Amino acid sequence: MNLFETMHTSEHEQVVFCHNKDAGLKAIIAIHNTTLGPALGGMRMWPYASEQEALEDVLRLSKGMTYKAAVSGLNLGGGKAVIIGDSRQDKSEALFRAMGQFIESLNGRYITAEDVGIDVNDMEYVFQETGNVVGVHQVHGGSGDPSPFIAYGVLQGIRASLQKKFGDESIGKYSYAVQGAGHVGLELIKLLRAENAKVFVTDINEDSVNAAVELGCEAVGVEDIYDVKADVFAPTALGAIVNENTIPRFKFKIVCGSANNQLATNESGDELEGRGILYAPDYAVNAGGLMNVSIELEGYNRERGRRMTRAIFYNVSKIFEIADRDGIPTWKAADRMAEERIAMVGKLKLPHMGQSRKFSGRQRNSG
Ligand code: NAD
Repeated sequence: MNLFETMHTSEHEQVVFCHNKDAGLKAIIAIHNTTLGPALGGMRMWPYASEQEALEDVLRLSKGMTYKAAVSGLNLGGGKAVIIGDSRQDKSEALFRAMGQFIESLNGRYITAEDVGIDVNDMEYVFQETGNVVGVHQVHGGSGDPSPFIAYGVLQGIRASLQKKFGDESIGKYSYAVQGAGHVGLELIKLLRAENAKVFVTDINEDSVNAAVELGCEAVGVEDIYDVKADVFAPTALGAIVNENTIPRFKFKIVCGSANNQLATNESGDELEGRGILYAPDYAVNAGGLMNVSIELEGYNRERGRRMTRAIFYNVSKIFEIADRDGIPTWKAADRMAEERIAMVGKLKLPHMGQSRKFSGRQRNSG
């Protein structure tokens, strides 16, 4: 990979390679865009097969965070960190403290959080070296489990989609097919069932299915979920489940869930559009976790987290408006909404507003 050429194309601001021989640390921090604010994004630990694979992942994920923050109305930029290693055997205090020192050296341009392979105990070590971390333990003012907020955000996305598709956002009037009754899925099911909605559920884990059935859901097979006759498909397990094999089976009118990267390809998004199935873009719908954790930066408050998450109704509605305005599919409209906000705020910052500057090396000699 020609790194500068790649950064030029993807418009990354900064890529930092972090190495500490004694701690066995090999990590990459990518800062995509800080127009709106400091780059916030999780730290992932993964046994990448090659450095190239790690680099590609961190570049892709950091760019995704820029779009997610922008579309969510947050004053945050996009960044991400990856540690190359096996989270089951390569973790140590030294590793995370060394990583914390590198994050500290960026002076607040990058704020880290938990991601795949990282838990709250690892974050304790990072937190010893830098304050630029969210998702810390609740005893330090952390926000705790994000799942209820993500699920509540998905519910707002569903309401906005129902309003757009049927002109009526009454959750209980419609039926739902929930793929995955994990942390987020089960919380979403509770919210849907609280409105007496008909909910079909599937999961590869029998205990999770049973927990959902106890809440009044109807269980279906893992492969059968795509054929369910329901109004809304809510993917809350895996990515790439909206693809050329599954779409022809859909009788759904709406796709709206928490899973990341639901569309296998952009063409899958076009195909949904062509079939009149409304797609609520995943990164706008599942931003409740990011919104909630971002409040830690100003002092965490649960009620604020809930209020902020309600904005997902507005954000998703706005995406649909842009799609109509420009005659484009919703997946593209989400990107456009993010890009427009960054461009608009970026321009606001262009004129110099006259802050006092210190030219420390050029003291006037009045003597
Ligand atoms: P989770 O691991 O708790 O739950 C996922 C569930 O999906 C599990 O119960 C698992 O058994 C089930 N599952 C896995 N493969 C399946 C399959 N083929 N068919 C049916 N079910 C299957 O994860 P979570 O925290 O609830 O997250 C759910 C989704 O939301 C993920 O895609 C995640 O990337 C996304 N998301 C999570 C967060 C977060 O902070 N938790 C934030 C944004 C998006």
